[in-house]
Amino acid sequence: MQKQEFLSRWLEIIKKSSALMIYKQNFISSMLGAIRNCSPRHTYDTAWARSVVDVLDGENIGPDRGDLEIKIKPMAEKVIKYYWDQTAYFGLVQGPNPLKQPELIRRVRDLTKDYHKGRPAEPVTFEKASFNPFQKEKLEEHIDTASEILKNEVIPIYLHRGNGEQYVKYRKGEDYMLLPHAAASAIKENKILIVEAVYYRWSQILENYNTSPRLNRKVRIIDTVELRDRPLISYKKYLDIENPDHLCFYCGQPITNEDLFINHVLPWSYLCSDDIWNLVYTHKNCRSTITGSLPSEFFVVRLEKRNRSLLEKLKSYVETDMVAGALQDSINRGLVRKNWVHCQEK
Ligand SMILES: [Zn+2]
Repeated sequence: MQKQEFLSRWLEIIKKSSALMIYKQNFISSMLGAIRNCSPRHTYDTAWARSVVDVLDGENIGPDRGDLEIKIKPMAEKVIKYYWDQTAYFGLVQGPNPLKQPELIRRVRDLTKDYHKGRPAEPVTFEKASFNPFQKEKLEEHIDTASEILKNEVIPIYLHRGNGEQYVKYRKGEDYMLLPHAAASAIKENKILIVEAVYYRWSQILENYNTSPRLNRKVRIIDTVELRDRPLISYKKYLDIENPDHLCFYCGQPITNEDLFINHVLPWSYLCSDDIWNLVYTHKNCRSTITGSLPSEFFVVRLEKRNRSLLEKLKSYVETDMVAGALQDSINRGLVRKNWVHCQEK
């Protein structure tokens, strides 16, 4: 008798856990389906889907005590941040009409315009931006608008996509949405899968409106910012071969070791990669004071000349050394000039 009781309890547990598993599977496939079908008119849906993952990632959801209340405002903040980085920093267009971008994008643009008044034109990432009180106030206003857009245009549409099952619950006017505990934990468990799907769909949409290189990498903002902080020191041995006296690319004066910087001539925010053909020695402050964000043709010619001279010295390594090979290839394809022209169109 006791044995039978044990068995039936055990069966109960199995049933419960497999029902939970099925629920989670259905939820994830519905979420992936919604990401796949995100509207190409703007990228609000992809931005929101990513913000849900990011907001949940920072939260301890604890044991199941019914639906979780998730505030809309922190999601709106994230959305503004993504758009700052993608549009203000990387210059990516987010909708089919470049002259009439979606409302949130226009607002972020206004914010960046304000931000750069009296500051260098070189773009900064949201994380590194320091807002004055007036700009902070504006930022708050834009976050409120983003909240309203999420509440009125994004979340309700998403609600209809749940294969008949309503996963995300939102009552008009509330400043939070409700997410079943099992759905939240499914998002946390499948974070990588969801984020990858968002990245994929987002860059797929942006491909329609942008020609700038490495879209996918630019969409992965967090990863690219990490990439950017990677030291350029590994290029020193190449630069030293052509420029052993460490003369500044911009002012031509020698640079002391403390002031020696390896800099990108064409902005990193356009190329989104470190390439030997774009890297030079400069004084710490020479780049921003002389060139602002885009080099003049004078420096483009100087860079082309430097590359030819560097290749002369690396000629015998082009087949065995990746960096030397890339330098040769950049000269064959005229990458300095091509990218410079493109950068200006951006
Ligand atoms: Zn200098």
